[in-house]
Amino acid sequence: MSKQFVVPELGYAFNALEPVIDSRTMELHHDKHHGGYVANLNKALEKAPEFFDWDIHDILRNINQVPESIRTNVRNNGGGHANHALFWQILAPGGAKSPSGKLASEINLTFGSFDSFVEKLSNAAISQFGSGWGWLVVDGSGKLQVYSTPNQDSPLMQGHFPIFGIDVWEHAYYLKYQNRRADYVKAIWQIVNWTQVEKFYADAS
Ligand code: MN
Repeated sequence: MSKQFVVPELGYAFNALEPVIDSRTMELHHDKHHGGYVANLNKALEKAPEFFDWDIHDILRNINQVPESIRTNVRNNGGGHANHALFWQILAPGGAKSPSGKLASEINLTFGSFDSFVEKLSNAAISQFGSGWGWLVVDGSGKLQVYSTPNQDSPLMQGHFPIFGIDVWEHAYYLKYQNRRADYVKAIWQIVNWTQVEKFYADAS
């Protein structure tokens, strides 16, 4: 039997990101929502089991190689798996308030300042209509870009490498913030794991 995709460990306690993200939201989000994407991805790939040997990033980069009958399913649930696997890693309690080194200078160069980068990405995330994500990516020519995607669409599908993302599905914030998506997006900057984002940036460059 081929290996199945699994939900990665969170790496910190469900309550570690309080008060920004409450424990119950983290537990449901990680175990039930991410768990659901992984279960549905595994089920879809029963029809094309050769993809169990692929990295999820490679599947999304080559989504058009997935059989058409399961492609939308893999796009949504494989995207959900990859996006959440990234999301758990780029959050942490008590990290640095901003990046340093090469990422910091590239952010300044691209967006003018760290504050204007935060504003631009926050606006992209807040104004995404319905469910989706706000992203900081390294594009195909090695430049930083900020944008949003709907649903679980991954920047990997357009050859971009996501290094930071804000989940703006209601399941990410509704228990604590209800309809106040902007408050959630504003608060999340307090719990960014910039050390990890810098590592992803180094991998992508
Ligand atoms: Mn989510």
